[in-house]
Amino acid sequence: MDIIVLKPGTKKDHIRKIEKKLKTFGLGANVVIKGTERTIIGVKGDTSVVLPEQEDSIRAMEGVEEVMRILKPFKLASREFKHANSTFSVRGNKIGGKKIQVIAGPCAVEGREIVLDIAKHVKRGGASFIRGGAFKPRTSPYSFQGMGEEGLRILKEAREKTGLPVVTELMDPRDMDVIQKYADIIQIGARNMQNFKLLLEVGLSKKPVVLKRGLCATIKEWLMAAEYIMSNGNEKVILCERGIRTFETATRNTLDLSAVPVLKSQTHLPVMVDPSHGVGYAHLVIPMAKAAVAAGADGLLVEVHTNPQEAFSDGEQSLPPVDFKRMMKELKPIAAAVGRTI
Ligand code: PEP
Ligand code: MN
Repeated sequence: MDIIVLKPGTKKDHIRKIEKKLKTFGLGANVVIKGTERTIIGVKGDTSVVLPEQEDSIRAMEGVEEVMRILKPFKLASREFKHANSTFSVRGNKIGGKKIQVIAGPCAVEGREIVLDIAKHVKRGGASFIRGGAFKPRTSPYSFQGMGEEGLRILKEAREKTGLPVVTELMDPRDMDVIQKYADIIQIGARNMQNFKLLLEVGLSKKPVVLKRGLCATIKEWLMAAEYIMSNGNEKVILCERGIRTFETATRNTLDLSAVPVLKSQTHLPVMVDPSHGVGYAHLVIPMAKAAVAAGADGLLVEVHTNPQEAFSDGEQSLPPVDFKRMMKELKPIAAAVGRTI
């Protein structure tokens, strides 16, 4: 017994009674309210010692619809818990559906004119979301650290001008309010994939979260990170493969595309691929974007810059608009071949 699904409209009183009963078995409860209609209790503790008659006694309690045993360490994120693919809409763009969603834009918000110009280009090229970091996690503390709230205001203006919803990274729980004010999707960066406080914080948000894979994270660790977010009530998690550290130096990271079908078999969550950070060089981005679509990705995250040579960060891996447009065109037949649109 790992998850207790409650009937719609179950009263707090009944939930308390279930919690009390679990306590008598030496177990705790993590109550996850999903949307307005469904409440789920994640059972905390060593559930393997629960006796069948104890499980039956929970099953018989008022308000209980289903008691589930899930073998995977990640529960809410697992396919065992939810068979159908999860989908969610962001300003009319459905993520996890037939259409492959493309998030594009500069690595960092560098200034108003340039971001508005890039947004216009990616919109024309067929992107559905504009991205850009206002708080930048850089390897060196002396590198450009982002424009902060001013950058977020620029992204908002880009949304107003193009209609493209905004994806931007949250690095610090203290920036949650300001990020929520401007972002349509909150990005958690690779370096923060196991920042559990940050994960719990976005778990309280109603906004979808793009959870990037940690540089050295296994797929299981990544799914456990998703579970942290979901266990706090936010089920709108999008997993984004962005390459892992290996011994290979020809590319910036090693883009693990096998993660896509592995995730598809283990979780109902949408899966995206970021070929830009995955390979680190613009000329390798388009082939890997194609491979990602062929492998079954639900979306792509691609860095685009109108003047890559002058970019404040990640210029080497950023596509100029002309190549972004070509990529989108060349992806169409590949998407069609796997039953998708782009
Ligand atoms: C980014 O998307 O610009 C970024 C910093 O990505 P990652 O966290 O994957 O390195
Ligand atoms: Mn970047």
